[in-house]
Amino acid sequence: MTAVSARVAGPADLRDRPGVPIRLDGLTRRYGSVVALDGLDLDIAGGEFLALLGPSGCGKTTALRAIAGFDQPDGGRVLVDGRDVTGVPASKRDMGMVFQAYSLFPNLTVAENVAFGLRVRRRPKTEQTARAAELLDLVGLADRAARYPHQLSGGQQQRVALARALAVAPQVLLLDEPLSALDAQVRVQLREEIRRIQLELGITTVFVTHDQAEALSVADRVGVLRSGRLEQVDTPDELYERPATAFVAEFVGTMNRVPATVSGGEVQLLGVRRPLAGPAPGPVEVVALVRPEALVVTADPTGPARVVTRTFSGASTRVLVALADGTEVRVDVPSATSGDLTPGAAVVVTPAERAVLAVPAEAAAQSRAGA
Ligand code: ADP
Ligand code: MG
Repeated sequence: MTAVSARVAGPADLRDRPGVPIRLDGLTRRYGSVVALDGLDLDIAGGEFLALLGPSGCGKTTALRAIAGFDQPDGGRVLVDGRDVTGVPASKRDMGMVFQAYSLFPNLTVAENVAFGLRVRRRPKTEQTARAAELLDLVGLADRAARYPHQLSGGQQQRVALARALAVAPQVLLLDEPLSALDAQVRVQLREEIRRIQLELGITTVFVTHDQAEALSVADRVGVLRSGRLEQVDTPDELYERPATAFVAEFVGTMNRVPATVSGGEVQLLGVRRPLAGPAPGPVEVVALVRPEALVVTADPTGPARVVTRTFSGASTRVLVALADGTEVRVDVPSATSGDLTPGAAVVVTPAERAVLAVPAEAAAQSRAGA
């Protein structure tokens, strides 16, 4: 999994601790009539980077707070390295946490913020100073030690928050939407940075986000949470290629919904038949779920579909096409061959030669509403 041999840059005491496994066993948490966690089971391997992904309100923060010990579940257990810590207070759990934003102490310098956990633990002043310098170096902010949080950009503040979380050499790193307040470009940079540091340290990490692209890009595995339960836990490519449910299929990546029918293990869509992927959805009337790269669009003056827009994004171009019945689909084509797919062009859309996922028409509508 994350057996990284070239762990070089991190502080030695962090590097030399192998990541600990975490197990969530039937966690439940209710707030009045709201069920925030509904029997959550999850095994996280030592040193793993696990993303918890789901729409707002699905229980991500509640799950993270239960792991951290900031919140007491109504039922179930949290095990760290095989030990039941469910009743152990947060201060005794040996975990570092990073929140969405604005969590630094405004009246402390950057170095004092990073050293805060050591000060609370009454470590010697010299150790606090050395440690802060070491961690700031790890996050690339060695030259900002004497600044105050308001003198830093949002991205730099989150780097400081990360350094602060790691300063006490925790066994586990927990991040609750740490990038969601940042600009798109900074977000991408910082998520790569977090992943680099996590790999260097080999620290077991749970990263909570509602952003599927973010989860897929950094995590070893992604758990898709819906209404306090996990729909699927898998590697990013498995989630993308073999979503276990309609909810996962539509929440992870872009998915087109094409009216279709099913019979005899085949799906009929866009005038052709393809093998059915996964279980038969039951009713004859279904919705086929097809990725933008699994459709082929060809310019054809007699074609029944029309190009609505085209969006250039480097190597590939996304073409929005209105089918004859009004259904709109997104199709990704190599930019080099997209020249005649201009708005208004008549085209034919065909599914690529591969198995197609299909769900009952209502299920697809429900999972969209849920997201
Ligand atoms: P997420 O982080 O995925 O957006 P949360 O874990 O914060 O979701 O919340 C899950 C559900 O629990 C939501 O319906 C939310 O409104 C509810 N909830 C969370 N915390 C509280 C609280 N302290 N009091 C009442 N309801 C809460
Ligand atoms: Mg949250």
